[in-house]
Amino acid sequence: MGEPVTMEKIVSLCRRRGFVFPSSEIYGGLGSTYDYGHYGVLMKNNIRSLWFREMVQERDDIVALDSAIILNPRVWEASGHVAGFSDPLVDCRTCKLRFRADKLDEAQCGRKPSMRPGEWKECDLTEPRHFNLMFQTRVGAVEDASSVAYLRPETAQGIFVNFKNVLQIARRKPPFGIAQIGKSFRNEITPGNFLFRVLEFEQMEMEYFVPPDEAERWFEYWVQARFDWYLKYGLRAEKLRIREHSEEERSHYSSATSDIEYEYPIGWGELEGVANRGDYDLVQHTEHSGTRLEFVGEGGERYTPHVIEPAVSIERIFVALLADGYHEEEVAGRGRTVLRLHPAVAPVKAAILPLIAKDSGQVGHARALYEELRGEHLVEYDDGGAIGRRYRRQDEIGTPFAFTVDEQTLDDETVTVRDRDTLAQERLPIGGVRAWLGDRLP
Ligand code: ATP
Repeated sequence: MGEPVTMEKIVSLCRRRGFVFPSSEIYGGLGSTYDYGHYGVLMKNNIRSLWFREMVQERDDIVALDSAIILNPRVWEASGHVAGFSDPLVDCRTCKLRFRADKLDEAQCGRKPSMRPGEWKECDLTEPRHFNLMFQTRVGAVEDASSVAYLRPETAQGIFVNFKNVLQIARRKPPFGIAQIGKSFRNEITPGNFLFRVLEFEQMEMEYFVPPDEAERWFEYWVQARFDWYLKYGLRAEKLRIREHSEEERSHYSSATSDIEYEYPIGWGELEGVANRGDYDLVQHTEHSGTRLEFVGEGGERYTPHVIEPAVSIERIFVALLADGYHEEEVAGRGRTVLRLHPAVAPVKAAILPLIAKDSGQVGHARALYEELRGEHLVEYDDGGAIGRRYRRQDEIGTPFAFTVDEQTLDDETVTVRDRDTLAQERLPIGGVRAWLGDRLP
């Protein structure tokens, strides 16, 4: 007990409880792609809607957008992705594996896994070559160079090319933001590490357009606001840190970038990036499209806004929340695994359990309570198996509360509520459960 949380343990829990499966598993899977089962879908929905609530619903200055995945390929020429969105790769002529040249110290030699590529005497690495991360596809019936298109590697460009639409139609003036959630695709060459680095992921990005002289202030603001958001949903402060990128590390467009890092079971890694993109994107698209992407004030003053971008994927948040919430502990001489997820994040908010499944009175009360609660919250009814096993199942999927209907319920119309973390139980009138739960859920 109290052993370190490993990625293997998280993968195993996700599979056992139906959060995440390897994709197309019956055909042997496909590296770095996953499918989500019931609880995974519920948890992703929660992450998505908490982000949306924070970024759009509770603010006056940010509007939503949902742009296409396949854009005019000229977008990616203008943005610099066709020329520059690449990783340096090396091949090993001995084991025939391919590695990212900048991540060799995290990789294993194909023949001697205890060594890094290049460390074993028979390793024979090529010089690094650049490999574009965008997936290519073709649009239309004719296969020629003019039909080449790309699956977007980030959602941000769909925002920049809609800048003028939003400015005019949503009648915005800097500072204002455009937020988008959607799939992005990258042909990542360093596989593994579960959902941390996958080929397709759901990005949540917000481009915040500001007067140029306010860019630094807003950059600091968004780094802090995003950091605080993770604390709000329960990630432990000691597992989070802010790391500023050095000049060499920054993307071609960025004048400052800070990563919010989480200490994953595989070590510290980027959870979310906050970048000051300057006026790079709007200027590039103005030049390439011929459409002026700038702000014109009522007095006729005009300027190209600078852009601050917080960008994260649901997948990286999902793994961080699972790693942070995963605990193995001993209770009354028996081991239990529990996911201490924030109630807002937990896939199921409460379980409703009749103590004895054969007792029709208990089942009747439990079903009635379940029907009452399910209209408002994602709750689960379960009458299968011993009560201890049912509790343990709910602990493993992170359900914060369990309401149990027992014999006493039939006499006095009360139920017990069991707290996932403290295991404390108290009795509540069955008629008050809905309000009690409503007070505890966001
Ligand atoms: P890394 O250095 O880890 O490859 P990056 O700097 O390329 O990440 P960005 O381009 O800044 O990542 O993407 C913004 C966010 O999108 C990241 O902070 C991360 O949350 C998420 N992300 C990027 N690539 C992946 C991926 N392959 N799988 C899952 N999430 C990803």
